[in-house]
Amino acid sequence: MQEATKSTVPAEAASSVTQFRKNLDAVQQKINAACERSSRDPGEVRLLPVSKTVPEERIRMAYAAGCRFLGENKVQEAQEKAESMIDLTGLKWSIIGHLQSNKAKYVARFAHEFQALDSLKLAGALDRRLQIEGRSLDVFVQVNSSNEESKFGLPPEEVLAFVRQLPAFETLRVRGLMTLALFSQDQHRVRACFRRMRNLREQLQQDAPAGLSFDELSMGMSGDFEFAIEEGSTLVRVGQAIFGPRATPDSHYWPGTG
Ligand SMILES: *Cc1c(COP(=O)(O)O)cnc(C)c1O
Repeated sequence: MQEATKSTVPAEAASSVTQFRKNLDAVQQKINAACERSSRDPGEVRLLPVSKTVPEERIRMAYAAGCRFLGENKVQEAQEKAESMIDLTGLKWSIIGHLQSNKAKYVARFAHEFQALDSLKLAGALDRRLQIEGRSLDVFVQVNSSNEESKFGLPPEEVLAFVRQLPAFETLRVRGLMTLALFSQDQHRVRACFRRMRNLREQLQQDAPAGLSFDELSMGMSGDFEFAIEEGSTLVRVGQAIFGPRATPDSHYWPGTG
C-alpha cells in the first residue's frame, strides 16, 4: 500500500478549471488512500479548500471545478470575496482564522462556519450579533495541540471547562475541535498533536454538556493532511495543494512562524 507522504504542493498556481479538477482529484486520491490505510470510510472526511490570498478570478474557476465551501483565514478578505461572488449559487464560507471580538459582527452576517472559537468573550460577541441577524452558526473550538506560544487556541487542559460554558450561547452550534499541528518535519511529533486531539474529543464526548457535538475534528493542511486522517481527522483544510503555492508567508497568519 502507498505510504503517507509529506504532501506535495503543485509548482504553479492553478489557473484553469481543468487544473483545479486535477488538483482536487489528486488531493481526494490521497484522502482516499489515507482512509484505506486506516480502515476509514472516505465519506467521513470532508475536504475544505482554503482560498486565502487567491483572487476572485481563480476562485471562480475553483467553483466551476466543484468547490462549494471555501475556507478563509481573515474575515475582511472573506467578506469582500463573499460580496463580490454573491452570484455563485450555493457558495459558502468558513472562517478558519483567529478573530477579534470586535469583528464578530462581520462573521455573524455571512459566514456559514467558524472554526477558531477560543474565548468566552468572542462566543458572547458572536452570539449577540447572530441574534441580531436572526442566524445561527456552526462553530469549532480551536485547541493549541502543539504547546507553542505562536499558535492560537486553548490549551487542551482548559477545553472542558470552556465548553461547559457554551450552552449559554444559543446561536452557536458546537460541532467539534480544530487545531494546527506543530510545523515540523518530524512525523512523530506532528502525529502526537493529532492524537492529543483525538483523545480530547473522546473525553469531551463523555463529559461535555448535552446538546454540544464533538464529532468533528478539523485537522490537517497541505503538508500534513494524510497523517491527520490516519489519526482521525474528519475535516482537512487544504489550500496550497489545491490552489498552488502562496506568496504570503505563514507569519502573516500565525505570529512567530514562517
Ligand atoms: C492557510 C490555512 C490552512 C491551509 O494551509 P495550506 O498550507 O495552504 O494547505 C489551513 N488552516 C488554516 C487555519 C489556515 O490559515
